[in-house]
Amino acid sequence: MLRINELKLPLDHPETALRAAVLARLGIPDADLIDMSVFKRSYDARKKSAIMLIYSIDAEVRNEAAVLARHAKDQYIGPSPDTGYKFVDAAPPAAGTPRPIVVGTGPCGLFVALILAQMGLNPLVLERGKVVRERTVDTFGFWRKRKLDTESNVQFGEGGAGTFSDGKLYSQIKDKKHYGRKVLTEFVKSGAPEEIMYVSKPHIGTFRLVKMVEQMRAEITALGGEIRFQTRVEDIMVSEENGVRQVTGVRLAGGEEIATRHLAIAIGHSARDTFQMLYERGVYVEAKPFSIGFRVEHPQSLIDVCRFGPNAGNKLLGAADYKIVHHASNGRSVYSFCMCPGGTVVAASSEEGRVVTNGMSQYSRAERNANSAIVVEITPADFPSQHPLAGIDLQRELESRAYVLGGSNYDAPGQLMGDFVAGRPSTAFGSVTPSFKPAVHLTDLAPSLPDYAITALREAFVAFDKQIKGYFKEDAVLTGVETRTSSPIRIKRNDDDYQSLNTRGLFPAGEGAGYAGGIMSAAVDGIRVAEAMALAMAAR
Ligand code: FAD
Repeated sequence: MLRINELKLPLDHPETALRAAVLARLGIPDADLIDMSVFKRSYDARKKSAIMLIYSIDAEVRNEAAVLARHAKDQYIGPSPDTGYKFVDAAPPAAGTPRPIVVGTGPCGLFVALILAQMGLNPLVLERGKVVRERTVDTFGFWRKRKLDTESNVQFGEGGAGTFSDGKLYSQIKDKKHYGRKVLTEFVKSGAPEEIMYVSKPHIGTFRLVKMVEQMRAEITALGGEIRFQTRVEDIMVSEENGVRQVTGVRLAGGEEIATRHLAIAIGHSARDTFQMLYERGVYVEAKPFSIGFRVEHPQSLIDVCRFGPNAGNKLLGAADYKIVHHASNGRSVYSFCMCPGGTVVAASSEEGRVVTNGMSQYSRAERNANSAIVVEITPADFPSQHPLAGIDLQRELESRAYVLGGSNYDAPGQLMGDFVAGRPSTAFGSVTPSFKPAVHLTDLAPSLPDYAITALREAFVAFDKQIKGYFKEDAVLTGVETRTSSPIRIKRNDDDYQSLNTRGLFPAGEGAGYAGGIMSAAVDGIRVAEAMALAMAAR
């Protein structure tokens, strides 16, 4: 098999044009092209009236060696790399080794468990929240009736934080071993659309994610794994062995103790009680930067026209996304984060008396508004103290402020963009109807974030208009607050064996540990951690 990269065709090309382009590029007759498939498809929309599709094609041809030799100097033609997943070569564990435990069923925990199960290592998976169907009822109940279940919500439950999301499946992580391909392959096996394998910015949307998560659970259990829901890990047991701290088990909320010497902690960025417990048990954690800001809603049509011009609405392109950055004059970086085309803003609280926003969409991305978090980067120097968990204190403080500003009933505080920049409270919506449920309460958002963030955001909204014409829109709606952009701590681990810096057998994993940000990177980290656990378990 050989691969041709950077094969460009016009957006509206007929299907037959692709085969013709491959033949022309390789300089071979039709009879010599045995088979071909699209490995990747992206687009170049820099020239809006002439948007180009860019393909990477895998082709099976007659006399491949000769064809490759003819194109030896062409950097875009070469043998297709082997992107298949290979399990690590780990010996089976010694008899009597307790089974590995995985805490959390977000994308990270699910992939730790799946790989361990595929290797025959029978993981036990512990999840504080409910199975995804019951969790969906609780989450939608919160959005409709303002009744928060602190153990079953957008953050907690089967599938983790990404279940009610846009389901974007791309990431900028370095992935030399093609683990991302393994993740996509497993997702397709679990019901994701085939196209996620080849489109450059795949996404799945919420409803499909729910079904996929159930399928993955079925596969893990069919392979000998066990998953327990509504089972919160409240404590870990650690012993001193020959001067080294070693994990020996977990204690559950009901008091039950389970022994293990291999424990993956994939708890996401919102398990504040578990972070506190790990810190109190002496596990090494440190504060890390994250970002704070608002969700912003514009009409999706505005973004489509700006990005795609006359090709706005083209089915292949779908609803347009954007990525923007502004370096404010006070030294702060302001950037778009987790942009959800044609989606909705969601209430993502997991603690009583606190309001926090996020975004989600369905596969169709057909809702009227585009939403994105617009956030300001902050560092531990901005936190209220130098305590390793001080970032959590700041998040809590801002989420509590948002709750009060919203009316103390889980409505979110909001403001029109023009009013926010001008520094006056909003009193009535304009042409953009906010999608957040239960509701957006119009107010002045200035007291919701520290002054440096407000100043940087005001400057950025005006500056973004140069990047996306029309972005500074008087009646675009800002909804507050966005505080859970990434984990406020890092549970540091060794680079080589993925075990905690000071606690053997503890494998910090995924977003909560500070080693991922997003579904794909969390899932890839899950694969790496599973491999490290399998190697650590191998009998010596
Ligand atoms: P999580 O997914 O947070 O999973 C952690 C799990 O651990 C949870 O299920 C939790 O209940 C469980 N847990 C926590 N503590 C305990 C305990 N003590 N005992 C037992 N179980 C415990 N990313 C994208 O890439 N694309 C998107 O489109 C996208 N949209 C998003 C939309 C929303 C609304 C949200 C909230 C997030 C979105 N994200 C998106 C981010 C993405 O979901 C996260 O980066 C990802 O889920 C992190 O995976 P994780 O497995 O590390 O942690």
